[in-house]
Amino acid sequence: MAVPARRTSKTAKRKRRTHFKISVPGMVECSNCGEMKLSHRVCKACGSYKGKEVVSK
Ligand SMILES: [Zn+2]
Repeated sequence: MAVPARRTSKTAKRKRRTHFKISVPGMVECSNCGEMKLSHRVCKACGSYKGKEVVSK
């Protein structure tokens, strides 16, 4: 709801903004090496996909 800026305290504003999180969608841990990777993509660190190495290092 629109409210004059000075009516929202610094604390209230900051508390609301704790929910503004940086989201990296589709990041999962690689089942092979444990690195963070994009799901449904070949792992950049070890070149594996679905437990098989598909890209040589
Ligand atoms: Zn990996």
